[in-house]
Amino acid sequence: MSRALLAAEAVEAKEVMALAQALVRIPSHYPGPGEEGVVAFLEEYLRARGLAPFRQGVAPGRPNLVADLGEGKGGLILEGHTDVVTPGEEALWTHPPYAGVVEGGRLYGRGACDMKGGLAALVGALLAVKRVLGKPRRPLRLAALVDEEGMMQGVKTFVQGGLARGFRGAVVAEPEEMEACLWQKGALRLRLRFPGRMAHGAMPYAGDNPIPKAARFLVGLAEQEGRWQEAFSHPYLGLPYLTPTRFLASAGEGQLNVIPPWAEVALDVRTVPGMDHDHLVAEVRRLAGVEVEVLEDRPPVETPREDPLVQAAEEALQLLGLPFRLGGVPGATDGTFLRAWAGLPVVVMGPGKKTLPHQTDEWVDLEEVVQAARVYAALAVLFLE
Ligand SMILES: [Zn+2]
Repeated sequence: MSRALLAAEAVEAKEVMALAQALVRIPSHYPGPGEEGVVAFLEEYLRARGLAPFRQGVAPGRPNLVADLGEGKGGLILEGHTDVVTPGEEALWTHPPYAGVVEGGRLYGRGACDMKGGLAALVGALLAVKRVLGKPRRPLRLAALVDEEGMMQGVKTFVQGGLARGFRGAVVAEPEEMEACLWQKGALRLRLRFPGRMAHGAMPYAGDNPIPKAARFLVGLAEQEGRWQEAFSHPYLGLPYLTPTRFLASAGEGQLNVIPPWAEVALDVRTVPGMDHDHLVAEVRRLAGVEVEVLEDRPPVETPREDPLVQAAEEALQLLGLPFRLGGVPGATDGTFLRAWAGLPVVVMGPGKKTLPHQTDEWVDLEEVVQAARVYAALAVLFLE
């Protein structure tokens, strides 16, 4: 039997399921308790199984956790994030969000799908590879990173700290129904301020009202979006979007007789490969006639279909009798920065329904989590050996 298949079979189903449940039971939303509890648990868990995990500080109480199997160059990173989004109102949940209830083979709770199920699968794969290979010829690095749901400070610090250097690929375990996602949309968060001049509402001619200026800009956005959508679309990512998400203008609480001094507009821009972000910002600036502040810039990324990492993913799925399906990620993930900043080929592929993240009654199928662990184990051996 091939070593890849041996590694897949060395995944211990019960262990992976129990880990997924244990992880869901530790709240890790931010703002809130944050990732520290999950990190401390995982650290102890890995140490008890013969690994030597280490922390990388990102922000107070928010450490990345890294664990290596083997050393050298040309290795593979298994990446997952330890934070979850807020559960919101607990009363809206059928099962309490951090109880880790299992019913009908499904694990329920905040983060079950996004992505403590995937994280448990990565750990299960790491341990299985350890059982079969001991130390692989090239390193296998588990990266459990913080703040993916926020500004992605975890992966940014991970890359800036040199922890992706020397590696040849990364698998990101986001819930994608085990589609091999080679494409990820880009994102821009922009803020524009339309200046005005305060004046009495009875004498509007004495001031300069920023609201109509901002409103004209907002109305024109749909046309701009249409032009982008005509020029760019992607078979796996669909269309680019230009969406206003904030419009603020006020001279103060209850001041309905005062022309406000400014109006603020925020835009959420979603892009596909081929769209140049600097160029897009310049177009928005021209349209608005005011300065555009770039609050966040996440470029669209793609990994070539013929990359050895993609081949390994395809082979691993085939080896386990599973279909190889290509896909695209509609939002950015930590994989965006592993690709854009560290230059690594990235496959985003994890267990869990695509649409469930951030919903109430989030769940993941535990069999699918175990299956994902088997795929990762086989993929790692195929890629590393
Ligand atoms: Zn996620």
